[in-house]
Amino acid sequence: MRPPMPLPGSKRRVGIQRALAWVGLALMALCFVWVQMLPMSHSVLGDRNTARKDGRVTLVVIDPGHGGQDSGAIRDGVLEKDLTLDVARRLDQSLRAKGLRTMRTRVADEYVSLANRAKAANEQHDCVFVSIHFDEGNRTAATGVNTYYATRQHGKWPLLASWLTFVQPVSNEPENFESQSLAGFVQQALVARTKAVDRGTRSEQFYVIANVNHPAVLVEGGFLTNDDEMRKLRTEDYRQQLAAAISDGVLRYRELARERGSRMGNDEPRA
Ligand SMILES: [Zn+2]
Repeated sequence: MRPPMPLPGSKRRVGIQRALAWVGLALMALCFVWVQMLPMSHSVLGDRNTARKDGRVTLVVIDPGHGGQDSGAIRDGVLEKDLTLDVARRLDQSLRAKGLRTMRTRVADEYVSLANRAKAANEQHDCVFVSIHFDEGNRTAATGVNTYYATRQHGKWPLLASWLTFVQPVSNEPENFESQSLAGFVQQALVARTKAVDRGTRSEQFYVIANVNHPAVLVEGGFLTNDDEMRKLRTEDYRQQLAAAISDGVLRYRELARERGSRMGNDEPRA
């Protein structure tokens, strides 16, 4: 059977369709590039750079882990989400008493997604981020405090990060100096104040710290699964010591970051 005769002009139509397909593809590629470039022009990236250059810290974003339907670790009626909220409140008071501004990602027993916690921090300027958690171990013997930082922080991708993980750029920097040194000061102060077992600082890509574009740490303030630590965590005095220690560490970091900033010749007045 003879193929049907092409209608006049159909070749041209196919040509136009192909051209449109290519234009569509090009537009998609352009959008992709634009989305990648967008955060670069946004001030949040500038904030990170500012924090690095002059070390100005005027605000501490405090993140009490878990909340609402997410209780975190549970032991004998003690919920991690309640402990984190309590220590966060104490830390908030302690830092404000020292003249720092504070912000908490939650102030009540409510659920806040990790993305929204990171986003709240990324909307702020000149700040550091401290997430508070408590641990549970497979062995009841596990005990002590440790402070995490993320080696790679890609806070300029807070919304994309959750679904576009494959486009997240990997930083060329071998280490994350600011967060690592904040973690060091906090950990040092925690051990000095509480005399808890020093589990050191560790690098871990926890979402909430990896997606914040300010110096960020996550504190594990003790094991609910350890009898001795649990007994201490039940006391207000110990929780106050934990908060005071985190406050000490943040202030120490701020002091040194500030000195570094002045050595780099930044004469701006500091809060
Ligand atoms: Zn936790």
